[in-house]
Amino acid sequence: PFDVLIVGGGPAGAAAAIYAARKGIRTGLVADRFGGQVLDTMAIENFISVKSTEGPRLVAGLEQHVRDYNVDIMNLQRAESLAVGADGLAEIGLASGASLRSRSVIISTGARWRKMDVPGEEAYAGRGVAYCPHCDGPLFKGKRVAVVGGGNSGVEAAIDLAGIVGHVTLLARNDVRADAVLQKRLASLPNVDVITHTRIGEVVGNGDKVTGLAYTDQTSGEARTLEVEGVFVQIGLLPNTDWLKGSVDLSAHGEIEVDARGQTSLPGVFAAGDCTTVPFKQIVIAMGEGAKASLAAFEHLIRSPLP
Ligand code: FAD
Repeated sequence: PFDVLIVGGGPAGAAAAIYAARKGIRTGLVADRFGGQVLDTMAIENFISVKSTEGPRLVAGLEQHVRDYNVDIMNLQRAESLAVGADGLAEIGLASGASLRSRSVIISTGARWRKMDVPGEEAYAGRGVAYCPHCDGPLFKGKRVAVVGGGNSGVEAAIDLAGIVGHVTLLARNDVRADAVLQKRLASLPNVDVITHTRIGEVVGNGDKVTGLAYTDQTSGEARTLEVEGVFVQIGLLPNTDWLKGSVDLSAHGEIEVDARGQTSLPGVFAAGDCTTVPFKQIVIAMGEGAKASLAAFEHLIRSPLP
């Protein structure tokens, strides 16, 4: 068996693998798609110490760094189950039918943004359609943007962006349903409009970038188009944890519950990055959490009986 088996090959998994391998223990990494969300990212300007880079470039660096160590990388493999046997070994079942055993496991399967599923969203992703205000807000400095989503994350994004961009229009599907304190702050901002009871129709562009957002006003039934250069979609972040239901404790949002060491509800099973309850989903945070979970797994191993 492995000493540490990491499930997920994004920034959290890569950091965990390097930290484990540096302890000289048997380390495996199984990933559906090495690189994770970073592969889908264009400009990255908040990876500290690197002023600006692109997702695929950062992933190449991650992979090179992991391959520098003795890590058994199993790419294009999907984990479907997790169980801990009577002998204390964890078993990860793969979609291929194979299974892997390990003395400890670090889950770092990440998350994905919920999409609007309207025409233009996919085509203009990274060319005006954005999902992360912390990441992409500064790219829209002084411009007009729309935020889609009337929950806490939509309103937080609108408040955040209002300080950077020229003008924000928040579109909510029903009423705005954020905490009162956020709604009050939003209402105090001079460069924010709120439109409720909308259905998004299409992201409009000129073939190169976003120029507008078409929606229907459900109250009047009228079709309208907002002129914007950016559309921030804030309708939910879905953790990739469906395969863990019933094996480790998950929050109401499906995030893996972890303590300050990344320990889950199952002994010997740790988790890190966007798939966990740790707030703020960012590359540097995922890497730090991956390193932390790996050190905690090592500490667990040196306190456990040898197989
Ligand atoms: P992920 O990157 O999601 O990686 C998850 C890994 O697990 C992948 O390898 C995946 O294939 C694998 N996996 C999932 N399920 C399974 C399974 N069942 N079996 C096996 N493997 C599985 N953050 C920033 O800090 N700066 C930015 O500028 C920035 N821009 C972004 C732009 C976009 C478009 C997106 C989508 C995200 C952006 N982020 C940015 C967020 C950042 O990418 C994430 O916070 C970070 O990638 C999380 O790392 P992670 O390792 O936890 O998960």
